[in-house]
Formats: sequence, structure tokens, C-alpha cells
Amino acid sequence: MRKQIVAGNWKMNTNIAEGISLALELRELENKFNDNIEVVVIPPFTHISEISNVLSDTDIKIGAQNCASEEKGAYTGEISAEMIASLEAKYVTIGHSERRAYYGETNSILNKKVKLAIKNNLTPIYCCGEKLEEREAKNHFDVVKTQISEGLFDLDNKDFSKIVIAYEPVWAIGTGVTASPEQAQEIHEFIRNIITEKYGKEIAENISILYGGSVKPSNANEIFGKTDVDGGLIGGAALKSNDFMGIINAF
Ligand code: PEP
Repeated sequence: MRKQIVAGNWKMNTNIAEGISLALELRELENKFNDNIEVVVIPPFTHISEISNVLSDTDIKIGAQNCASEEKGAYTGEISAEMIASLEAKYVTIGHSERRAYYGETNSILNKKVKLAIKNNLTPIYCCGEKLEEREAKNHFDVVKTQISEGLFDLDNKDFSKIVIAYEPVWAIGTGVTASPEQAQEIHEFIRNIITEKYGKEIAENISILYGGSVKPSNANEIFGKTDVDGGLIGGAALKSNDFMGIINAF
């Protein structure tokens, strides 16, 4: 059985006091969360230490939003996978569309990050997804296939099994527009099929594929109800504890 995951990406939001208070709210609500779901919060780097203290007596896992593509050394301003792992974080998002668009992160850079994450026992949440014009030109399958094959397909079976994939159509991120459950299922199934071709059925069936893009408590149930959707990567709605809980409990 593959893991069902709801991960909240706080992006560059909350100062430390606001971040702690959001984490405290989640801690209070945790006993109402659906037990079968792996819940992950992904705050800014600066908050990880404090927030892992706040959540230390819960089952909520912590993630980071990015990691460096180099191991260590003279890379001013960068945060390495090893540093993140030393803070009790378990997950790291890699290749979020905002990183790809604003910071020029290519599939080959992301491939280096994925390998460093795995080397440091972090679970990469590898993000992929097409832009609006790519969908309109009906290129979305090719775009996603290239992102996944260039970013991940040189991993061996053992390492590939450690990956979580998040399909996030760029046109749905932060826009209020969500992919329909059918659109999500169609591309999640496509992703699982290309993984099957490369790594075989057993590995493909065990990989969690999350959907991201304007998920809210009101639409999560329909999307999560699709066979190949194993949870969500949540942006805006992760900043409100009750909305985040509503999404967790939408399964
Ligand atoms: C995201 O940033 O990964 C995301 C899905 O954002 P939102 O839920 O706000 O669309």
C-alpha cells in the first residue's frame, strides 16, 4: 500500500512567531486528523528547528522547501541537504515550479539535489507540471515526462523507490483554478505508467503521487478520490490550520 500524504508548503510566509503559532494550532488539532495520512509541514528554513520542537510529540513530519545542488563549501546563502537532515526534517521539496521559474532550476540541477537529498536520508518530493500554454498546446504529457525522466530516471530501483512525486500544473498554483479530478487522474495515471515502463509495476504501484494546485477543503475529496492521486501538496490553504485539517480529513 502506498503512503497517502498531505504536505503543506508555507513558501516565504510567516515570521518565526507566526510560524510557531501556526504549528501550535496544528499540534492542538492533530488528534482530529485522519490517522492514515502522513502529514508534513514545510516551513521556511529559518523556522525548521523551532517548529520541529513544537511538533516533536506529534506524528506531523517536517520538510524543507529546497536544498542546495552541491554538498558543501563556498556557496554563500545555500542550505545543504545535510544541514536540513540535521534538523529532524524528513522531507524536502525539489523542483517546485516557483524554483524552476524564478531561480532557473533545470532538470539536471534538480537531479543533483534529488541525489543529495537521498544520500542524506531525506525523502524528496519531486515537483513537476506544465504551464498553461503547454497544456493548451497539448504538450503537457511530454513536458511532465521530460521533467521526470531527466530529473529522476538515472536513479537505481532502490533510490527511485524513495521518491514522492507531486504533479502541480503551474496554471493551478495559487490561482484558485484547480485541475478537474479527471485531469488530475489522467496525468497521475500517465506518470505511473511511465514509471512502470522504466522501473516495473511493483515500484510504480508503491510510489506516492501527490496533486498540487489550489486544493481546498471543498475540492480535496473529489481529487483525492481518484485512483492514482495519493494526496496533496498544499500552498495557500496550508497557512490556515482549519483548512489544512479539512484537506487532511478529505480522504
Ligand atoms: C504549491 O505551492 O505547491 C501550491 C499547490 O500552492 P496552492 O495550493 O496555493 O495553489
